[in-house]
Amino acid sequence: MEQTRQSQLDNPQKTIEMIKKYQFAFQKKLGQNFLIDPHVLDKIINAAQITKEDCVLEIGPGIGVMTQRLAELARHVVTVEIDKNLIPILEETLQGYDNITLINQDIIKVDINELVDAYNGGTAIKVVANLPYYITTPIIMGLFESHVPVDNITVMVQKEVADRMQVGPGSKDYGALSLAVQYYAEPYIVANVPPNCFIPRPNVGSAVIRLTRHRNPAVETKNPELMFRIIRASFNQRRKTLQNGLNNSPELSYSKEMIAQAIDSLGVPPLVRGESLTLKQFAQLADWFADHPV
Ligand code: SAM
Repeated sequence: MEQTRQSQLDNPQKTIEMIKKYQFAFQKKLGQNFLIDPHVLDKIINAAQITKEDCVLEIGPGIGVMTQRLAELARHVVTVEIDKNLIPILEETLQGYDNITLINQDIIKVDINELVDAYNGGTAIKVVANLPYYITTPIIMGLFESHVPVDNITVMVQKEVADRMQVGPGSKDYGALSLAVQYYAEPYIVANVPPNCFIPRPNVGSAVIRLTRHRNPAVETKNPELMFRIIRASFNQRRKTLQNGLNNSPELSYSKEMIAQAIDSLGVPPLVRGESLTLKQFAQLADWFADHPV
């Protein structure tokens, strides 16, 4: 089997030719904006640090441009595409590669842990994708919360979402997503990507972000599930104080007095807002509640 650079599609003209040949119609609702800039492709591939030992999961291969590159670098690539109209195209573009498994399914319905067992003996995989933006957060949080063994996740996302994942307290972008991502992983923005690197052009800017999974979560807390309920409550009502956010949350049932005591235990002002607390402070707050059951 020959896996040469000639067989690659990372040339915008070839993508356009394939789309015409198969009369492929882009579906906006599936987030179909295909990457046609080879330099951006290089940046994604380099950031993912793929070796010949790796099993890579790709989400949404499109016509298989990145899939080919991944297959040339990794031991095995599992790629999951929802759109059945792309399957005949992928069968042509991925022909001749014997280390690619193509699955025609909705990634949200796939048991990724099962795939990791089947294709990598249950050991950590790498995830690489130009994600469909309408399901970025469920995909990333699903990988973390279902404890899929991953080394890193290198993905193209909407720029705003990449910023939200990376920032700390005090920024307008800081929120539940920042804290959840940073609990599990170290975010690093690899590149900002303008709309003209895709066909069709998206209406938003994009960014490539790498999330390197922490060996252990970034903070220790007695009850992570309680901490995330507190985090959600704190950001549900952004302009409210932490006290009001926790008090009004349907997910929590603490009295005003308890909430005031818990906030006081952090040594912060009583009218503090959730957006100024660090992950460590949220962990401390959750531990205070865990130690004072109602
Ligand atoms: N990887 C290609 C590229 O870089 O040009 C295509 C990326 S495009 C932004 C997103 C891809 O994800 C499309 O191929 C789309 O059909 C696919 N997709 C959308 N929703 C999906 C889902 N729920 N499960 C699997 N694939 C999905």
